[in-house]
Amino acid sequence: MTAPAKRITDIGPPHYEKFLPPIIKRNYGQWKYHESLAPGVLCHVSETGDKLYSVRAASPRLLSIKTIRYFADLADKYCDGYLRFTSRNNVEFLLDDPGKIELLKQELRDAGYPVGGTNNAISNIVHTQGWVHCHSSATDASGIVKSVMDALCDHFTQQNLPAKLRIAVACCLNMCGAVHCSDIAILGIHRKPPKIKHDVLPKVCEVPTLIASCPTGAIRPKTVDGKQSVEVVEEQCMYCGNCYTVCPAMPLNDPENDGISIWVGGKVSNARTAPKFTKLAIPFLPNNPPRWPEVVDAVVNIVNVYSQGAKKFERVGEWIERIGWPRFFQLTGIEFTRYHIDDFKNAGQTYARSTHIRF
Ligand code: SF4
Ligand code: SF4
Repeated sequence: MTAPAKRITDIGPPHYEKFLPPIIKRNYGQWKYHESLAPGVLCHVSETGDKLYSVRAASPRLLSIKTIRYFADLADKYCDGYLRFTSRNNVEFLLDDPGKIELLKQELRDAGYPVGGTNNAISNIVHTQGWVHCHSSATDASGIVKSVMDALCDHFTQQNLPAKLRIAVACCLNMCGAVHCSDIAILGIHRKPPKIKHDVLPKVCEVPTLIASCPTGAIRPKTVDGKQSVEVVEEQCMYCGNCYTVCPAMPLNDPENDGISIWVGGKVSNARTAPKFTKLAIPFLPNNPPRWPEVVDAVVNIVNVYSQGAKKFERVGEWIERIGWPRFFQLTGIEFTRYHIDDFKNAGQTYARSTHIRF
């Protein structure tokens, strides 16, 4: 009997040093300062005097192998084969010859990849799978991102906002990514309770796990046609979809009632103020593919009002905290509704408890 081929496992990722451009290897840990030469172009200067130039271009995140080969060809042509992707899925080309910057920028722009995303700009939108790949999405990700960035592209290629402005998209409130902590967040939501498939539920779901998955305790065990199943107390359901994540017999996707909510004011950095969660700005906008005009208009409006009203370096959340939420709703023209009032555990902490309020 022949021995089975040895399974190679637990080898981890390749060591990052293998992919560092020689200039970074030489100056690792010795960078003295950096400056922004133009939107999308940074220069890092080392203690040794070496200078590293990075050219950042937008990428749609979902890339074909053809696009990756195109980026690799550009890296071969301008950067001795080296490139990297940023934590917002932009592509960055790393050069040591400043004479190549303009040629590379032009080539990227000609191919449809805007150069920018640095400093006080709107960089790439961190986003999720949407209808391309996920079973629990209430909206699409790639389609919304394309529509919103088409409208905001000038803010990617320029650095003219009061501060950096981070936008994120998540297609359900599992919130894969950064919607809970971004300046503006676009989040897919449901508005109807799950439709229970009693015939398959006992075969595919573990009932105690399903019951425990509900944040509001809306799911109860129930015998239906002599079989073990569950019921949902609809007045208690807030359509989070968590039960569907653990039990495929609880689908709640609904093309008419699923849609978008918009959130604002989150940040992760500790610069000036502590990190913040996003808060609800718009409870519902319809799913309107392929261009989501209502969502695009809402985001552009918030960006415009913020950029006119915020002080230098003020992030969206800091601006709102300075002017107060009533003024935010007034300036943006967004309607304040009962949906904005927190009614989940410890909600009282979010209520105004002083007389300091602007009428
Ligand atoms: S946010 Fe929800 S729907 Fe989107 S990828 Fe994550 S789990 Fe799937
Ligand atoms: S959608 Fe959410 S709130 Fe409604 S029953 Fe399922 S887990 Fe509970």
